[in-house]
Amino acid sequence: MNHPQGERDLGEVSQARITGVDIRMINVPLGQPLETAAGVFPALPMVLVDLETDAGVTGCAYFSACFLPMMLKPIALLIDGLSEMIIGDRLAPAEIDQKLRRNMRLVGAKGPVASAMAVIEIATWDALAKHRQLPLCELLGGARQKTPIYQTIVSMDPQTAAEKAIESIEVGYGGVKCKLGQADPQADIALLTAVRAACGDGYPIMGDFNQALSVDEAEQRMESLDELNLTWVEEPTLADDFEGHARITEAARTPVSIGENWQGIADAQRSLSISASDLVMPDVIRMGGITAWLEAAHLADEAGVGVSSHGYSEICVHLLAVAARSQWLEHVDVLDEIFLDPIKPTNGVALPSPKPGVGISWNEDAIRRFLVKWR
Ligand SMILES: [Mg+2]
Repeated sequence: MNHPQGERDLGEVSQARITGVDIRMINVPLGQPLETAAGVFPALPMVLVDLETDAGVTGCAYFSACFLPMMLKPIALLIDGLSEMIIGDRLAPAEIDQKLRRNMRLVGAKGPVASAMAVIEIATWDALAKHRQLPLCELLGGARQKTPIYQTIVSMDPQTAAEKAIESIEVGYGGVKCKLGQADPQADIALLTAVRAACGDGYPIMGDFNQALSVDEAEQRMESLDELNLTWVEEPTLADDFEGHARITEAARTPVSIGENWQGIADAQRSLSISASDLVMPDVIRMGGITAWLEAAHLADEAGVGVSSHGYSEICVHLLAVAARSQWLEHVDVLDEIFLDPIKPTNGVALPSPKPGVGISWNEDAIRRFLVKWR
């Protein structure tokens, strides 16, 4: 991996101005419901953002972790309100981000507020990269490097998951992740055993407890996975219990990964400072955007910790191409339909789009079908 991060000033500025922000809400039905230890989701609500400029380029970004349709409208309204603050401003991601943070200081830039700010920051980076006619990774000082890509399997049924694992290998994924944390520990083992049998020894398999266990339970359940040779296991206990995760990480043989619920750089610092996990996987939206994600990746590098992505694969394939110690790009194919050219794995890896910007093009036919009216 190259290590260009930090060699480029992230305070990129353009004289182009932001002229408007178009916000759409969609609810994408899933052929296979998303099964997790925190609930089953039959559809994925998303907010799509198109940031318009007077330079003739449009910055695209999206928020796909609303989970409940009731969250769509609040998130869209937040993005709408924040957008009004930046109409007429220069296309400068750091300036925009600082302005929004200043304006929202008394409200508190956490949770959905932070997510709404992050979507705008990402759209600003996309527009700027398009304006410069560079793929995002090149604007960020890197090159179109490939990153190993794995598919997250959304079914907890052993046979369905094993079939999806075989399909994933055939399509070109370099690994698969299984959702764990079922009430009966043996159900997790049965799922992983079926997927291991389908994939063969040595094929990378990850697991994800989605915060389902107490620290004591997690220590026992991690031990029961020892023989399965997993690449990592995510969030065995509550995401913000860094001390608990440090205890689990210390005791477990299988590497532990957390970070998808870090809410900004202070969480990254606190988590890394006590070695809460062996590996990290910050979420670009929950971190607060591209600049904050890269900062977290830089902290992970300084701590000697490998970094992977969480969701948002079209965007994160650029960030992982830039980050030192980058490891795995997560992808779930359930949202592929809304993009004209979704991320495609080849021989276990994925490449950033060669197009200027992130490389997202909305599939307007699909979006029209999934559109949710909000005003
Ligand atoms: Mg996870």
